[in-house]
Amino acid sequence: MRTIGLIGGMSWESSAEYYRLINQQVRDRLGPLRSARLLMYSLDFGPVEQAQHTGRWDLAAQILVDAARRLEAGGAECVVLCTNTMHKVADQIQAVLSVPFLHIADPTAEAALEAGTLSVGLLGTAFTMEQDFLKQRLVDRGLKVLVPDTVDRQAVHRIIYDELCVGVISDSSRQRYQQVIQALMERGAQAIILGCTEIGLLLKPEHSPLPLLDTTELHARAAVAFALDRGA
Ligand code: GLU
Repeated sequence: MRTIGLIGGMSWESSAEYYRLINQQVRDRLGPLRSARLLMYSLDFGPVEQAQHTGRWDLAAQILVDAARRLEAGGAECVVLCTNTMHKVADQIQAVLSVPFLHIADPTAEAALEAGTLSVGLLGTAFTMEQDFLKQRLVDRGLKVLVPDTVDRQAVHRIIYDELCVGVISDSSRQRYQQVIQALMERGAQAIILGCTEIGLLLKPEHSPLPLLDTTELHARAAVAFALDRGA
């Protein structure tokens, strides 16, 4: 089994999900007392979040590059960045690693294409919905990516930072997300990408009229596939 390296803490609410999902899958595949070999470098989200909202992506990149280096030095055989938003600096991280960086968009695009979906709605932070760093990678794989309108994007973004990242799960926010999904469906979306690693804490498949592609789940599965299936 290969050792997985996780850069977590953004937020730790979703890092805990990665930890649980990865270990659960290893147990399901290898047996009841088996668990994943992994290292998690869990950051203080405060400085990263501040860097995001002040446009200091260079500072955020420095923090993440340092974390990635520490993971590799500690024996990680791949690096998994447990947030969609910070994939904005994926290239800088990848550049300092000699082990593979498992990009969150790749298993997501594969899952959409496998399900025969061509048009996807994307929910995430404003950075993820409005900028190209993640969307373009999905478009390059042949997907059409729809994002919510301005007012809906603001609501989706606010709920992520004010509620989901601090462990607040509320019915009213779930209903608000359901309205956003409804609007995307009316515009032709065939599935919804939960393109923020905390949204799966709020929305389960039964809450959505469209299939959900949860990046946390898909990314965790890709990490397990790397650990178990690539000839280790
Ligand atoms: N975890 C979230 C994401 O997947 C948002 C928090 C962050 O900005 O890193 O984008």
